[in-house]
Amino acid sequence: MAPGMTIIDHIHQEDKAENPVGHPRILALANQKGGVGKTTTAINLGTALAAIGERVLIVDLDPQGNASTGLGIDRRNRSCSTYDVLIGEAPLRDAVVPTAVPRLHIAASTMDLSGLELELGSARDRAFRLRDAITALNTNATPDTDYTYVLIDCPPSLNLLTVNAMAASDAILVPLQCEFFALEGLSQLLQTVEQVRTTLNPNLSIHGIVLTMVDSRNNLSNQVVADVRQFMGSKVYNTMIPRNVRISEAPSYGKPVLVYDLKCVGSDAYLKLATEVIQRERELRTH
Ligand code: ADP
Ligand code: MG
Repeated sequence: MAPGMTIIDHIHQEDKAENPVGHPRILALANQKGGVGKTTTAINLGTALAAIGERVLIVDLDPQGNASTGLGIDRRNRSCSTYDVLIGEAPLRDAVVPTAVPRLHIAASTMDLSGLELELGSARDRAFRLRDAITALNTNATPDTDYTYVLIDCPPSLNLLTVNAMAASDAILVPLQCEFFALEGLSQLLQTVEQVRTTLNPNLSIHGIVLTMVDSRNNLSNQVVADVRQFMGSKVYNTMIPRNVRISEAPSYGKPVLVYDLKCVGSDAYLKLATEVIQRERELRTH
């Protein structure tokens, strides 16, 4: 390591070398259950990746638009959204807006997305709309849109939107809440991933499981953690929302959204997660 470099600079420099222009790593945050931490992980992992120098795009594929609202994108500023992109009326670059976090951009969503499945009907490319939109963005990447990571925040179901995310992704990251039916939901999700792999996207990998809301005082929680670790081997991360976060009341989200203050991101769980994610992506890429 060169003198004066921190470990983060070092990791980032290596990563840049491995991530050629216009080839971001694309990760879907997916779980058909709601309230398990998909959006929170997308926002905070995206922020942490950006904090250590990655150029990150979050694609909000949930009609509820919590990632968009959580990152402060007012509904009035969503005249072009992921709906317009998937319906074929706008290129992805038109839906992208910067956030208050440097190097973190988002393509916001609107409620219109919930009608997409019906509107696309049996269009032959309906599962590949997002993949093709990201490819077009990469082909014409400018220094501003030359992302190293794209994080897709999926809706809480295994519908056409989630299938689009899986067809577009290099890997899936599954936020999992430690509760009684967690493993049942996980095996259902992994079956869907397997189906997508054999049909739509042979390159799809499982990046890993992010355990959210682990309460180590609780026996069930500990047992779920043990079961998931046994089931998934080493691809398990644990995120407890640390105490040093700034809770900002996002407009119209209705409940507090966790948005990291960049001043404290350096010492928290998501920064650790971000460095582990970069490491694992490096392994997956070379396979
Ligand atoms: P989803 O997008 O899967 O529906 P959310 O990200 O909206 O889930 O999270 C649901 C709730 O869980 C939120 O109130 C959020 O603050 C909380 N939460 C998410 N991730 C964590 C975590 N790692 N630790 C503690 N609470 C979390
Ligand atoms: Mg969500």
